[in-house]
Amino acid sequence: MKRILALLMLFTLLLGMAASAVAEEEAITYTGTITGGSLHLRKEPSPSGKVVDTYKSGTKVDILENDGTWCHVQVGTKTGYMMTQYLDIQPNYTHLGWGKTPGDGTVLNVRASASADAKVVYKAMSSGVFELVAEAGDWYKVRVGEGFGYLPKTGITLLEGDYLPAITATDNDELSPEALRRGPREVGSATTVTREGEDFSYAITYPSLGAGFAWISGEISAWAQNTLRVFQEDHQQNHPGEQATYTVEYESVSLDGDYYSVLLLGRYQVGSLHADTALALNFDGEGNPVSLEQAVEESQLPRVLFCLESAVSALMPAPACGYDGKPGSAWLQTAALGKEGVEVILPEGAYLPAALGSRRLTLGYGQVAECLALQSDYIASRRRVIDPAKPMIALTFDDGPSEETDRILKTLTQYGGRATFCVIGNKIETYGDVIKRTIAQGSEIACHTWSHPHFDRISSSAVKPQIQKVVDAVRELTGGYEIKVLRPPYGTVTAAVRSACRDLDLVIAKWQVDTEDWTYRNANRTYNAVIKGAKNGYIVLCHDIYTTTADAMERAIPELVSRGYQLVTVSELLSFHKDGVEAGKIYIKLDPENIKTE
Ligand code: ZN
Repeated sequence: MKRILALLMLFTLLLGMAASAVAEEEAITYTGTITGGSLHLRKEPSPSGKVVDTYKSGTKVDILENDGTWCHVQVGTKTGYMMTQYLDIQPNYTHLGWGKTPGDGTVLNVRASASADAKVVYKAMSSGVFELVAEAGDWYKVRVGEGFGYLPKTGITLLEGDYLPAITATDNDELSPEALRRGPREVGSATTVTREGEDFSYAITYPSLGAGFAWISGEISAWAQNTLRVFQEDHQQNHPGEQATYTVEYESVSLDGDYYSVLLLGRYQVGSLHADTALALNFDGEGNPVSLEQAVEESQLPRVLFCLESAVSALMPAPACGYDGKPGSAWLQTAALGKEGVEVILPEGAYLPAALGSRRLTLGYGQVAECLALQSDYIASRRRVIDPAKPMIALTFDDGPSEETDRILKTLTQYGGRATFCVIGNKIETYGDVIKRTIAQGSEIACHTWSHPHFDRISSSAVKPQIQKVVDAVRELTGGYEIKVLRPPYGTVTAAVRSACRDLDLVIAKWQVDTEDWTYRNANRTYNAVIKGAKNGYIVLCHDIYTTTADAMERAIPELVSRGYQLVTVSELLSFHKDGVEAGKIYIKLDPENIKTE
């Protein structure tokens, strides 16, 4: 079992490096051969573009650029455009074979040229397999992503033969721009390569995405070769004679043709043991690679990680299993854009306890679309948009977090709502995870002081620390969340409170509707108080420490939504104030005449 886990870790590293590694110095160039009859060279990339010249089938042209529909090409001294579908496009390098770096843990530097002083363009992990394209003295020229680099010959073991036929791109009609403008959908046609061996068989299914995406076929091919080889070696060395299989399946999704993702999921099975591996390739409509780590707005990364952590904590209700890993951006290395959201693949044993196996977590677009810096109509359509011309209401929950908070968050998520949770500082240590889930859900954390004093019964010098300690603790817990709102206990505000809020840049939010859920603790009564009191722009006071309040919300939240209310946070509501808001000032609602609707 240990051996299998070691392989997995290796793959995680290999996969992580593959997508981002591009040698800047020398990129792969392509030659196109005209197929199926003569072809016009046009001045513009359009079927009505002026014809510069016409060439016979079999003529070779240099590809300068390829957008998937048109290639900008050079033929002799002439340049112009030819339709991609009539060109057989091949990379301009020779395939010498495959070489493997040492398996002893050494990391080799891949350099920009055949010299030990040249710039390092890539770090080759232990047991990495590279495609060799040329020899240069004591160096091999190797393929690295869309470019090339150089590895010293010493230490490279030549591997015999090719395990797989080369995976190449083919034409694919379903990738027409019209066909793609239909939201998220599966794209590409499947090809399966199989081999039935005496004791080792494989079936590798991969998508063909069209000639415009040649590098993706190259990445898939290299990955399939790498993984197959490692598993075949493991089989030979550790399980000779036992029946073993390696299967690869895939999903490929296009989001409106703006972005594509290909997710390959491999499983090596020998006896009762297995190892899983995965490759995620994300790219834009022009075929340029997009890493999901880069696709997340930097300021939004903590929120995406909270979403991930929330999803992980749902898998593991008992922290007693000894797991203390925290999601980091590395977890997004094997993530792809799926139909429902960002699909994160966590290979067995790589991040989570091995007992949980390989896991696939979906972060719904409803939660994470606004964290993604992707120019896509589809993603934009899934971002939260508040229309200030429609009614808004800000539910607020004081005195938590508590055991009841998660249920309210769940109801909010179910109906696309958000709320403001006004937390007491001395509960943060116990309920830190709840606070993180609240932020991940999109709701707001406000300050309800450290220990809930009456502000008019403590010394004025004690006021600011009561507030600041909470702001600091939440910032530290979350790695940077900034509280913007104070909810004063009992609604008591003194000059010292206003002054502290001005210093700390907080607005003071009281309420227009008091549900009195804390007095009656009756779900029906709380429900009625919310529904009867609801009006556009109102702030509503509840407490997320009563089962009866969480019960009431399971009815009140859908009812408010069905009446056309947008459930917003206090900060969201006040962001529509036509005069802006002022730190230290008290707000109990936002009157419709003060709402800026443009
Ligand atoms: Zn309170």
